[in-house]
Amino acid sequence: MGTNRLEGEMIDQENKMMAKFKKEREEKIGNITFTMIKPEAVVANNIGGILKMIEEGGFRIVAMKKVHLSKERASEFYAVHSERPFYGELVDYMCESPIIAAILEKDNAVLDFRTLIGATNPADAAEGTIRAEFAESLAKNAVHGSDSDENANIEADFHFSAEERF
Ligand code: ATP
Ligand code: MG
Repeated sequence: MGTNRLEGEMIDQENKMMAKFKKEREEKIGNITFTMIKPEAVVANNIGGILKMIEEGGFRIVAMKKVHLSKERASEFYAVHSERPFYGELVDYMCESPIIAAILEKDNAVLDFRTLIGATNPADAAEGTIRAEFAESLAKNAVHGSDSDENANIEADFHFSAEERF
């Protein structure tokens, strides 16, 4: 009995510490979006070129890693698109080779990043945008960008722990 109560208290303590840590992180780090540099852009050695545009666009890199998604992880990440006809193609493509995952910070991060990357189809992407510069096609469009603050946080949490953000 005594041991169980002690364990319970330790878990409470740990939960409180995690909540405090998360709050401090949210106060220290402002508005975020989540991005991936997609497989074909990584294979084409465009990581540096894309990161240069991201940093010159005023975004600060909060967290970043190179990761090879499994089919399960890619399916989970894109579960919101599971009813769309291109879902299978999208999942296969995203785990073809490694990607770069990153959390980016800037005021108005989500919308400003969507502006910087340009339209989903590179044929419609404005000049000077990342997709106009680096995307190959509608399916292989170089980068991902979150579409809302809520999804930015879900996607960031999918790839990064609190301890990996600075
Ligand atoms: P992302 O979410 O990658 O930033 P997006 O928000 O501009 O892109 P979504 O509609 O969310 O576009 O589609 C997700 C991804 O699915 C696209 O980036 C693209 O790689 C792929 N995709 C979208 N439409 C098609 C399509 N018609 N055929 C093939 N692939 C597509
Ligand atoms: Mg999207």
